[in-house]
Amino acid sequence: MTDLASLSFEELSAFVTGTLNEKPFRARQLFNWVHQRGVTDFAQMTDLSKALRERLTATASIGKVEKDLEQKSVDGTIKFRFRTHDGKLIESVYMPSPDRKTLCVSTQVGCAMGCTFCMTATLGLKRHLTPSEIVGQVHAVNLELKKLGEKAERPLTNLVFMGMGEPLHNFENVKTALGILRHEQGPNFSSRHITVSTVGLVPMIERFAVETDVKLAISLNASNDETRSQVMPVNKRWKIADLLDAVRKFPVKMGRRVTFEYVLMQGVNDSDQNAHELAALLRGLPVKVNLIQYNDNPGLGFHSTVDNRAEAFRAILERSEVPAFIRANRGRDIAAACGQLANVDAAP
Ligand code: SF4
Repeated sequence: MTDLASLSFEELSAFVTGTLNEKPFRARQLFNWVHQRGVTDFAQMTDLSKALRERLTATASIGKVEKDLEQKSVDGTIKFRFRTHDGKLIESVYMPSPDRKTLCVSTQVGCAMGCTFCMTATLGLKRHLTPSEIVGQVHAVNLELKKLGEKAERPLTNLVFMGMGEPLHNFENVKTALGILRHEQGPNFSSRHITVSTVGLVPMIERFAVETDVKLAISLNASNDETRSQVMPVNKRWKIADLLDAVRKFPVKMGRRVTFEYVLMQGVNDSDQNAHELAALLRGLPVKVNLIQYNDNPGLGFHSTVDNRAEAFRAILERSEVPAFIRANRGRDIAAACGQLANVDAAP
Protein backbone atom coordinates (compact mmCIF):
# COMPACT_ATOMS: atom_id res chain seq x y z
CA MET A 1 0.00 0.00 0.00
CA THR A 2 1.27 3.47 -0.81
CA ASP A 3 1.54 5.76 2.22
CA LEU A 4 0.05 8.96 0.79
CA ALA A 5 1.16 11.08 3.76
CA SER A 6 4.80 10.31 2.96
CA LEU A 7 4.54 11.61 -0.62
CA SER A 8 5.58 15.10 -1.68
CA PHE A 9 2.86 17.11 -3.43
CA GLU A 10 4.44 16.26 -6.80
CA GLU A 11 4.59 12.53 -5.97
CA LEU A 12 0.98 12.57 -4.80
CA SER A 13 -0.07 14.34 -8.02
CA ALA A 14 1.69 11.63 -10.06
CA PHE A 15 -0.06 8.91 -8.02
CA VAL A 16 -3.49 10.54 -8.48
CA THR A 17 -3.19 11.21 -12.20
CA GLY A 18 -1.16 8.09 -13.05
CA THR A 19 -2.11 5.20 -10.77
CA LEU A 20 -5.67 6.38 -10.07
CA ASN A 21 -6.23 8.08 -13.46
CA GLU A 22 -7.99 10.99 -11.76
CA LYS A 23 -7.94 14.75 -12.47
CA PRO A 24 -5.02 16.78 -10.97
CA PHE A 25 -7.29 18.77 -8.63
CA ARG A 26 -7.99 15.55 -6.71
CA ALA A 27 -4.36 15.61 -5.55
CA ARG A 28 -4.89 19.11 -4.12
CA GLN A 29 -8.01 17.92 -2.30
CA LEU A 30 -6.22 14.87 -0.85
CA PHE A 31 -3.10 16.81 0.17
CA ASN A 32 -5.31 19.40 1.82
CA TRP A 33 -7.28 16.79 3.79
CA VAL A 34 -4.14 15.03 5.02
CA HIS A 35 -1.74 17.89 5.61
CA GLN A 36 -3.95 20.89 6.34
CA ARG A 37 -6.79 19.26 8.25
CA GLY A 38 -4.87 16.27 9.65
CA VAL A 39 -7.51 13.76 8.49
CA THR A 40 -6.24 10.16 8.34
CA ASP A 41 -9.45 8.35 7.33
CA PHE A 42 -10.52 8.37 3.66
CA ALA A 43 -14.18 8.00 4.74
CA GLN A 44 -14.09 11.53 6.21
CA MET A 45 -12.99 13.13 2.89
CA THR A 46 -16.51 14.14 1.98
CA ASP A 47 -15.74 16.08 -1.21
CA LEU A 48 -14.34 12.92 -2.85
CA SER A 49 -16.81 10.54 -4.52
CA LYS A 50 -17.67 7.36 -2.66
CA ALA A 51 -16.16 5.31 -5.49
CA LEU A 52 -12.85 7.19 -5.24
CA ARG A 53 -12.78 6.83 -1.46
CA GLU A 54 -13.25 3.07 -1.88
CA ARG A 55 -10.43 2.87 -4.43
CA LEU A 56 -8.16 4.85 -2.11
CA THR A 57 -8.97 2.54 0.79
CA ALA A 58 -8.06 -0.46 -1.36
CA THR A 59 -4.78 0.93 -2.74
CA ALA A 60 -3.38 3.43 -0.25
CA SER A 61 -2.94 4.30 3.41
CA ILE A 62 -2.27 7.48 5.39
CA GLY A 63 0.71 7.04 7.72
CA LYS A 64 0.46 8.64 11.15
CA VAL A 65 1.63 8.40 14.73
CA GLU A 66 -0.69 7.67 17.67
CA LYS A 67 -0.50 9.59 20.94
CA ASP A 68 0.66 7.25 23.69
CA LEU A 69 1.40 9.58 26.60
CA GLU A 70 1.24 13.29 27.43
CA GLN A 71 3.12 15.01 30.28
CA LYS A 72 2.76 18.66 31.25
CA SER A 73 5.55 20.71 32.81
CA VAL A 74 4.99 23.45 35.36
CA ASP A 75 6.33 25.90 32.73
CA GLY A 76 3.61 25.01 30.16
CA THR A 77 5.79 22.68 28.08
CA ILE A 78 4.03 19.47 27.03
CA LYS A 79 5.93 16.31 26.12
CA PHE A 80 4.00 14.01 23.78
CA ARG A 81 5.02 10.41 23.36
CA PHE A 82 3.84 8.82 20.12
CA ARG A 83 3.65 5.20 18.98
CA THR A 84 4.46 4.29 15.38
CA HIS A 85 2.60 1.60 13.38
CA ASP A 86 5.30 -0.94 14.37
CA GLY A 87 5.19 -0.08 18.07
CA LYS A 88 8.23 2.21 18.27
CA LEU A 89 8.08 5.16 20.69
CA ILE A 90 9.14 8.69 19.78
CA GLU A 91 8.75 12.02 21.55
CA SER A 92 7.85 15.58 20.54
CA VAL A 93 7.95 18.59 22.82
CA TYR A 94 5.52 21.52 22.63
CA MET A 95 6.92 24.80 24.00
CA PRO A 96 4.51 27.74 24.19
CA SER A 97 5.75 31.29 24.72
CA PRO A 98 3.97 34.64 24.44
CA ASP A 99 4.97 35.20 20.82
CA ARG A 100 5.16 31.66 19.39
CA LYS A 101 4.05 28.07 19.73
CA THR A 102 6.96 25.81 18.92
CA LEU A 103 7.14 22.05 18.45
CA CYS A 104 10.41 20.15 18.78
CA VAL A 105 10.16 17.23 16.33
CA SER A 106 11.92 13.83 16.27
CA THR A 107 13.38 12.44 13.04
CA GLN A 108 14.63 8.99 14.07
CA VAL A 109 13.78 6.28 16.59
CA GLY A 110 16.88 6.61 18.80
CA CYS A 111 20.08 8.00 17.31
CA ALA A 112 23.39 6.70 15.94
CA MET A 113 25.53 9.74 16.79
CA GLY A 114 26.52 8.66 20.29
CA CYS A 115 26.87 12.08 21.96
CA THR A 116 28.02 11.13 25.46
CA PHE A 117 25.83 13.69 27.30
CA CYS A 118 22.56 12.69 25.58
CA MET A 119 19.93 10.19 26.78
CA THR A 120 18.68 9.50 23.24
CA ALA A 121 22.15 8.23 22.35
CA THR A 122 21.77 5.45 24.92
CA LEU A 123 19.00 3.93 22.77
CA GLY A 124 21.19 3.54 19.68
CA LEU A 125 19.53 3.92 16.27
CA LYS A 126 16.43 1.76 15.83
CA ARG A 127 15.31 3.20 12.49
CA HIS A 128 14.68 6.36 10.48
CA LEU A 129 11.23 7.96 10.68
CA THR A 130 9.25 8.18 7.44
CA PRO A 131 8.03 11.57 6.16
CA SER A 132 4.49 10.73 7.39
CA GLU A 133 5.82 9.97 10.88
CA ILE A 134 7.71 13.28 10.94
CA VAL A 135 4.84 15.46 9.69
CA GLY A 136 2.41 13.26 11.67
CA GLN A 137 3.88 14.64 14.92
CA VAL A 138 3.01 18.17 13.75
CA HIS A 139 -0.53 17.22 12.67
CA ALA A 140 -1.18 15.30 15.89
CA VAL A 141 -0.02 18.15 18.14
CA ASN A 142 -2.04 20.71 16.15
CA LEU A 143 -5.14 18.56 16.72
CA GLU A 144 -4.32 18.20 20.45
CA LEU A 145 -3.94 21.98 20.80
CA LYS A 146 -7.30 22.53 19.12
CA LYS A 147 -8.84 20.11 21.63
CA LEU A 148 -7.29 22.30 24.34
CA GLY A 149 -9.17 25.29 22.91
CA GLU A 150 -6.72 26.80 20.39
CA LYS A 151 -8.79 28.56 17.72
CA ALA A 152 -6.20 28.91 14.93
CA GLU A 153 -6.49 26.57 11.93
CA ARG A 154 -2.83 25.62 12.55
CA PRO A 155 -1.97 26.45 16.19
CA LEU A 156 1.77 25.67 15.93
CA THR A 157 3.78 28.60 14.57
CA ASN A 158 7.37 27.31 14.69
CA LEU A 159 9.12 23.98 14.28
CA VAL A 160 12.56 22.90 15.45
CA PHE A 161 14.03 19.57 14.34
CA MET A 162 15.93 18.98 17.57
CA GLY A 163 14.14 15.98 19.06
CA MET A 164 15.28 12.37 18.93
CA GLY A 165 17.71 11.63 16.11
CA GLU A 166 20.11 13.43 13.78
CA PRO A 167 17.97 15.00 11.03
CA LEU A 168 20.70 15.05 8.38
CA HIS A 169 21.34 11.32 8.92
CA ASN A 170 17.76 10.86 7.62
CA PHE A 171 18.09 13.60 5.02
CA GLU A 172 15.81 12.32 2.22
CA ASN A 173 12.83 11.78 4.54
CA VAL A 174 13.46 15.07 6.38
CA LYS A 175 13.66 16.90 3.05
CA THR A 176 10.33 15.42 1.90
CA ALA A 177 8.77 16.30 5.27
CA LEU A 178 10.06 19.89 4.99
CA GLY A 179 8.54 20.20 1.50
CA ILE A 180 5.18 19.03 2.86
CA LEU A 181 5.31 21.33 5.89
CA ARG A 182 6.23 24.32 3.71
CA HIS A 183 3.61 23.61 1.00
CA GLU A 184 0.81 26.15 0.57
CA GLN A 185 -1.75 23.36 0.16
CA GLY A 186 -0.48 21.84 3.40
CA PRO A 187 0.52 23.40 6.75
CA ASN A 188 2.28 26.25 4.89
CA PHE A 189 4.97 27.03 7.48
CA SER A 190 7.30 29.89 6.59
CA SER A 191 10.93 28.87 5.96
CA ARG A 192 11.95 31.38 8.62
CA HIS A 193 9.89 29.50 11.20
CA ILE A 194 11.59 26.11 10.75
CA THR A 195 15.06 25.26 12.10
CA VAL A 196 16.88 21.98 11.55
CA SER A 197 19.67 21.07 13.96
CA THR A 198 22.70 18.92 13.15
CA VAL A 199 25.77 17.62 14.96
CA GLY A 200 27.74 18.53 11.85
CA LEU A 201 27.52 15.97 9.04
CA VAL A 202 29.51 18.23 6.74
CA PRO A 203 28.59 16.80 3.29
CA MET A 204 24.93 16.82 4.29
CA ILE A 205 25.15 20.48 5.39
CA GLU A 206 26.21 21.29 1.84
CA ARG A 207 23.18 19.43 0.44
CA PHE A 208 20.87 20.93 3.07
CA ALA A 209 22.01 24.43 2.02
CA VAL A 210 21.14 23.83 -1.62
CA GLU A 211 18.12 21.53 -1.41
CA THR A 212 16.11 23.19 1.38
CA ASP A 213 15.32 26.77 2.36
CA VAL A 214 14.91 26.53 6.14
CA LYS A 215 17.29 27.61 8.90
CA LEU A 216 20.23 25.61 10.26
CA ALA A 217 21.45 25.11 13.82
CA ILE A 218 24.69 23.32 14.63
CA SER A 219 25.27 21.55 17.95
CA LEU A 220 28.84 22.61 18.70
CA ASN A 221 29.19 22.03 22.45
CA ALA A 222 32.97 22.48 22.63
CA SER A 223 35.54 25.12 21.81
CA ASN A 224 38.33 22.77 20.69
CA ASP A 225 38.60 19.44 18.87
CA GLU A 226 39.94 17.53 21.86
CA THR A 227 36.87 18.20 24.02
CA ARG A 228 34.43 17.95 21.13
CA SER A 229 35.73 14.52 20.11
CA GLN A 230 35.23 13.35 23.70
CA VAL A 231 31.58 14.43 23.91
CA MET A 232 30.58 14.14 20.24
CA PRO A 233 32.15 11.20 18.38
CA VAL A 234 31.14 12.77 15.02
CA ASN A 235 34.03 15.21 15.57
CA LYS A 236 36.51 12.41 14.92
CA ARG A 237 35.21 12.35 11.33
CA TRP A 238 34.65 16.08 10.72
CA LYS A 239 36.68 18.54 12.80
CA ILE A 240 35.55 21.99 13.93
CA ALA A 241 37.50 23.58 11.05
CA ASP A 242 35.55 21.43 8.52
CA LEU A 243 32.31 22.53 10.15
CA LEU A 244 33.24 26.21 10.01
CA ASP A 245 34.18 25.85 6.32
CA ALA A 246 30.69 24.48 5.63
CA VAL A 247 29.17 27.39 7.58
CA ARG A 248 31.19 29.92 5.58
CA LYS A 249 29.66 28.49 2.39
CA PHE A 250 26.12 28.46 3.80
CA PRO A 251 23.76 30.88 2.02
CA VAL A 252 23.08 33.32 4.83
CA LYS A 253 20.92 35.66 2.76
CA MET A 254 17.17 35.79 3.33
CA GLY A 255 17.36 35.20 7.07
CA ARG A 256 19.24 31.88 6.92
CA ARG A 257 21.70 32.90 9.64
CA VAL A 258 23.28 29.82 11.25
CA THR A 259 22.82 29.29 14.99
CA PHE A 260 25.37 27.42 17.09
CA GLU A 261 23.96 25.50 20.03
CA TYR A 262 26.37 25.16 22.94
CA VAL A 263 25.32 23.03 25.91
CA LEU A 264 27.26 24.23 28.96
CA MET A 265 28.55 21.32 31.07
CA GLN A 266 30.25 22.02 34.37
CA GLY A 267 34.03 21.56 34.20
CA VAL A 268 33.85 20.20 30.63
CA ASN A 269 33.37 23.17 28.30
CA ASP A 270 32.29 26.14 30.44
CA SER A 271 35.54 27.89 31.51
CA ASP A 272 36.58 31.43 30.59
CA GLN A 273 39.27 29.88 28.41
CA ASN A 274 36.60 27.88 26.55
CA ALA A 275 34.62 31.09 25.99
CA HIS A 276 37.68 32.89 24.59
CA GLU A 277 38.46 29.91 22.32
CA LEU A 278 34.87 29.86 21.08
CA ALA A 279 34.92 33.61 20.43
CA ALA A 280 38.13 33.23 18.42
CA LEU A 281 36.51 30.50 16.30
CA LEU A 282 33.30 32.40 15.57
CA ARG A 283 34.33 36.08 15.47
CA GLY A 284 33.37 37.64 12.14
CA LEU A 285 31.03 34.83 11.06
CA PRO A 286 27.34 35.75 10.55
CA VAL A 287 26.23 33.45 13.35
CA LYS A 288 24.74 33.59 16.81
CA VAL A 289 25.25 31.28 19.78
CA ASN A 290 22.52 29.78 21.95
CA LEU A 291 23.91 28.77 25.35
CA ILE A 292 21.96 26.00 27.04
CA GLN A 293 22.63 24.93 30.61
CA TYR A 294 22.95 21.15 30.64
CA ASN A 295 20.04 19.12 31.99
CA ASP A 296 21.29 16.46 34.35
CA ASN A 297 20.62 12.92 33.12
CA PRO A 298 20.97 10.06 35.56
CA GLY A 299 24.08 8.00 35.02
CA LEU A 300 25.73 10.01 32.25
CA GLY A 301 28.16 11.84 34.55
CA PHE A 302 27.68 15.42 33.32
CA HIS A 303 26.36 18.34 35.36
CA SER A 304 24.80 21.70 34.63
CA THR A 305 26.78 24.92 34.66
CA VAL A 306 25.67 27.28 37.42
CA ASP A 307 23.84 30.49 36.45
CA ASN A 308 26.67 32.97 37.08
CA ARG A 309 29.13 30.82 35.07
CA ALA A 310 26.73 30.76 32.14
CA GLU A 311 26.39 34.55 32.30
CA ALA A 312 30.18 35.02 32.50
CA PHE A 313 30.57 32.78 29.44
CA ARG A 314 27.94 34.76 27.53
CA ALA A 315 29.54 38.08 28.46
CA ILE A 316 32.95 37.01 27.08
CA LEU A 317 31.32 36.11 23.75
CA GLU A 318 29.38 39.37 23.70
CA ARG A 319 32.53 41.43 24.37
CA SER A 320 34.15 39.64 21.43
CA GLU A 321 31.20 40.70 19.23
CA VAL A 322 29.80 37.19 18.95
CA PRO A 323 26.03 37.45 19.64
CA ALA A 324 25.18 34.99 22.41
CA PHE A 325 21.99 34.23 24.32
CA ILE A 326 21.26 32.02 27.31
CA ARG A 327 18.30 29.96 26.22
CA ALA A 328 15.63 29.30 28.80
CA ASN A 329 15.37 25.67 29.77
CA ARG A 330 11.98 24.15 29.08
CA GLY A 331 10.36 21.07 30.55
CA ARG A 332 13.20 19.97 32.82
CA ASP A 333 10.76 18.49 35.34
CA ILE A 334 9.28 16.11 32.75
CA ALA A 335 12.59 15.19 31.05
CA ALA A 336 11.58 17.13 27.95
CA ALA A 337 14.62 19.38 27.75
CA CYS A 338 17.58 19.13 25.38
CA GLY A 339 19.29 15.73 25.47
CA GLN A 340 16.68 14.18 27.76
CA LEU A 341 14.39 12.45 25.25
CA ALA A 342 14.55 8.70 25.69
CA ASN A 343 10.97 7.40 25.97
CA VAL A 344 11.32 7.05 29.71
CA ASP A 345 8.59 8.14 32.08
CA ALA A 346 9.58 11.21 34.07
CA ALA A 347 9.07 11.10 37.78
CA PRO A 348 5.83 12.90 38.70
S1 SF4 B 1 22.44 15.09 20.91
FE1 SF4 B 1 21.19 14.75 19.06
S2 SF4 B 1 22.66 13.87 17.59
FE2 SF4 B 1 23.63 13.66 19.63
S3 SF4 B 1 23.01 11.59 20.30
FE3 SF4 B 1 21.48 13.05 21.10
S4 SF4 B 1 19.82 13.02 19.57
FE4 SF4 B 1 21.64 12.16 18.60
